[in-house]
Amino acid sequence: MEELLIQDPAVAAVIADEVDRQVSKLELIASENFVSTAVRQAQGSVLTHKYAEGYPGKRWYGGCEHVDEVEDLARDRAKELFGATYANVQPHSGSQANMAVYFAACKPGDTVLGMDLSHGGHLTHGSPVNFSGKLFNMVHYGVSKETQTIDYDAVEALAKENKPTMIIAGASAYPRVIDFARFRQIADEVGAKLMVDMAHIAGLIAAGEHPSCIEHAHYTTTTTHKTLRGPRGGMILSSEDLEQELNSNIFPGIQGGPLMHVIASKAVAFGEALAPGFVEYQQQVVRNAKQLAVSLQEAGYKLVSGGTDNHMMLLDLSEKDYTGKDAQIALDKAGITVNKNTIPFETKSPFQTSGIRVGTPALTTRGMIEEDMIVVSEAIVAALNNMNDDKALKGISEEVEDFAREFPLFAW
Ligand code: PLP
Repeated sequence: MEELLIQDPAVAAVIADEVDRQVSKLELIASENFVSTAVRQAQGSVLTHKYAEGYPGKRWYGGCEHVDEVEDLARDRAKELFGATYANVQPHSGSQANMAVYFAACKPGDTVLGMDLSHGGHLTHGSPVNFSGKLFNMVHYGVSKETQTIDYDAVEALAKENKPTMIIAGASAYPRVIDFARFRQIADEVGAKLMVDMAHIAGLIAAGEHPSCIEHAHYTTTTTHKTLRGPRGGMILSSEDLEQELNSNIFPGIQGGPLMHVIASKAVAFGEALAPGFVEYQQQVVRNAKQLAVSLQEAGYKLVSGGTDNHMMLLDLSEKDYTGKDAQIALDKAGITVNKNTIPFETKSPFQTSGIRVGTPALTTRGMIEEDMIVVSEAIVAALNNMNDDKALKGISEEVEDFAREFPLFAW
């Protein structure tokens, strides 16, 4: 940081402020995590200088002998970690991994069945404001009103009725186990391809804390920066017979030069995920989520589907006299970072919402365990009970900061 401080103090100051925010607050955004210093060092390396359009051994540029090695390391580690025979580590993001699979499996105008955004799906699963909703004929499934879990019979009925080219399983806000075998059975019944977007639960799957999708899905996509605890980016996994089709839909299909510094960083993160300790980390993520869920329920909060099986939960605030947005703002003032989120059968706008999404991957990386989740739950409850009292929220934020700083984060 020394050179940056001298050359560009304005940017250095912003980064220093962000470090302070990250260490002094409680990060409960379910899609965020903290990476190791080694992962950041690879991402901040000279590999950012290198153009390497193409794939290892078949590049459009000279001088790729070293970046070839690192891309092979990343691909081999990804395959080993998930038990797949094909990996593409070039997608710049989860959205781009998904886009490449749409283009590999479907033609524009084809019917695709994905999870409704307000029931937990992602924008790229067919939202009308996203490329997916604009280019494809999207049909949506959701959760049942009674259980708030995926209604597989309804998915099957929709598939039979609409005959999609592709079915997407996976979600951004779904706290329960997803039955990938059932999705594949439904896809086979109607001759559809199955894409699983495991972005949120990739780390859990790698560690065996959620049943794997690899043997069931034709295509698996993921981000690398959520539970998987790597740099911000995307990845596609599949079987080697689809290599040509998938590779060409990333490059030259939708991307140019790969970000070799990010690919090196992905290799480091996958190495960490293969090392001892990662399984225990993922187990702790789930134990922490279960404890936080129980503590919040004991304090009278309603959770979508009544609890969690994974790393996250959705608080249903529909019976409260405040919105998800109000809750997010109050929690922010108390030093607790969450995001407002729609809940199934939402009646408010996506800007207001009736819920908040809460997850444990980041706090677990800081070393927090179940007993710490009780403290976190008490802080959340205190903030929500005092949401209109800025003085009380300030007091809570000071206690939160003292508590957070007990769990050091970065060697900066
Ligand atoms: N898929 C799912 C299920 C996600 O939750 C997300 C991001 O939140 C994405 C894809 C998109 O990832 P990115 O933000 O890297 O485009």
